[in-house]
Amino acid sequence: MTEPDMRDKPASTDFIRQRILEDLKSGRFGGRVHTRFPPEPNGYLHIGHAKSICLNFGVAEEFGGLCNLRFDDTDPTKESREFVEAIKEDIRWLGFDWGDREYYASDYFEQLYEWAVQLIKAGKAYVDSQSLEEIRQNRGTITEPGKESPYRNRSVEENLDLFERMRKGEFPDGAHVLRAKIDMASKHLILRDPIMYRIRHVRHYRQGDKWCIYPMYDFAHGQSDSIERITHSLCTLEFENNRPLYDWYLDQLGIYHPQQIEFARLNLTYTVMSKRRLAALVEEGLVDGWDDPRMPTLRGLRRRGYTPEAIRNFCARIGVTKYDALTDIALLEHCLREDLNKRAPRVMAVLHPLRVVIENYPEGQVEELEAINNPEDPSAGTRKVPFSRVLYIEREDFMEEPPKKFYRLAPGREVRLRYAYFIRCTDVVKDARTGEVVELRCTYDPATRGGDAPDGRKVKATIHWVSAAHALSAEVRLYDHLFTIRDTGDIPEDEDWRNYLNPNSRQILKNCPVEPSLRAAKPGAHYQFERIGYFCVDPDSTAETPVFNRAVTLRDTWAKIQKQMQASGGA
Ligand code: ATP
Ligand code: MG
Repeated sequence: MTEPDMRDKPASTDFIRQRILEDLKSGRFGGRVHTRFPPEPNGYLHIGHAKSICLNFGVAEEFGGLCNLRFDDTDPTKESREFVEAIKEDIRWLGFDWGDREYYASDYFEQLYEWAVQLIKAGKAYVDSQSLEEIRQNRGTITEPGKESPYRNRSVEENLDLFERMRKGEFPDGAHVLRAKIDMASKHLILRDPIMYRIRHVRHYRQGDKWCIYPMYDFAHGQSDSIERITHSLCTLEFENNRPLYDWYLDQLGIYHPQQIEFARLNLTYTVMSKRRLAALVEEGLVDGWDDPRMPTLRGLRRRGYTPEAIRNFCARIGVTKYDALTDIALLEHCLREDLNKRAPRVMAVLHPLRVVIENYPEGQVEELEAINNPEDPSAGTRKVPFSRVLYIEREDFMEEPPKKFYRLAPGREVRLRYAYFIRCTDVVKDARTGEVVELRCTYDPATRGGDAPDGRKVKATIHWVSAAHALSAEVRLYDHLFTIRDTGDIPEDEDWRNYLNPNSRQILKNCPVEPSLRAAKPGAHYQFERIGYFCVDPDSTAETPVFNRAVTLRDTWAKIQKQMQASGGA
């Protein structure tokens, strides 16, 4: 199922904003709105995180509230400072600011420990010495109640003593855990005496060796929100099941209670969003790195040529819903096209060059022709493009035997060269051995300078070109979907998801003639290659060889999908 386009729906009507409005009206949180974005620093941010960032920071901004950045760093095994820094960089790049509200769940470890002690003292938590395997087996199923641990009725004193010694490092990993004493027969499996603390003799990237017991995410998350006095704790749907547990902890501890509201995760067609799979792609060398332009990570998208504006606009359009859906990646591409259309200067570049010699153009002559930088933005002005006797055009703009609907260059036919002249193809030069067309001989009409014929005669096509003597030689990287399957969620469990990687997700073209104005192109700059697509200068560029990544083609598949949906009465 594809999410409908929410463009025409004002943001304030979604169920989260509704809820916040109600709370503001009733004065529930004293008129405050305070959200947070809580990443775990165990990977790089992806487009799904952008949805959550735009929602949390966006809601705070709209209601005059605040949004914290909180690193949920309770699991030391995969977390690192490298990820913390990268996450901060990506959020800033997206255009959001957390001011001085940068928090770490690991800074709350002491408080969480005290709360655990409080629950032990209240007879609401106990040290269990079963193995993790036994604990799992004794949990029961949806239809069968769990089995109580033989250690469940340890005295408060014994529990306090053991828990303290766990903290001191007297026991190896797995020897004991701290569990909440709730109800082994609860219909909510999550309430069957969930684990609160585990022993883990692992160094924490931020806390060092201070701790060898670590709280479970479930014991840390709700309380962290409480400590920061978050009003609306927005999280993804899978946490709906955990809500009764968060509520239980907060109620038992008698501390400030935020409102949790769940929304659907973003899933995109032809890609994966799971951190585990993204990490595997990088670690196994299936892509070049976290910033490979094919990755759905924010740094991958950035390198590909995505702008923060396009991503924010995409997030606004998909809105928030309560049901899981699959969003078409064509919508994301559409948002980028829309943004770059307004801001990207137009240039001429040829991806698959075919040499053209204009026989009646004086040898050695060069004209500087005026070209418009961006028809969507008159303030972008014009530039000069050199024209001379030998040019390159796109190979696919010529056909020796054109079919009916092909209006571009063919033997005997006349077309317009963008910003230049009409040319007519008079002869075709072929490779004697292979028969391949290697050069076109043409004539030009000097009276058509600028692109119009004074006698009013028309041509059916305008094509782009680059002067051979003036061209820069560029490397151009074309990208396509990372996966061949539309919904990667459909890949069977017992099959390797790697089998669905698109072997043609990247195509590298070398020696592409591009106009000389691109000599000054800076990494990160955007251009529209006329008639081809939007491109972004890659950091691999050198003074001799600029490198361009194709961000998107000009073909707007999203507009097409919308049209089809309207025609079928869908949207
Ligand atoms: P993990 O499995 O490691 O928990 P995660 O994708 O949930 O992975 P977090 O760092 O915990 O990663 O995510 C931070 C925040 O971003 C969370 O609040 C999470 O709900 C939200 N988030 C993550 N993925 C998506 C997604 N695809 N769509 C919307 N929000 C997401
Ligand atoms: Mg998470």
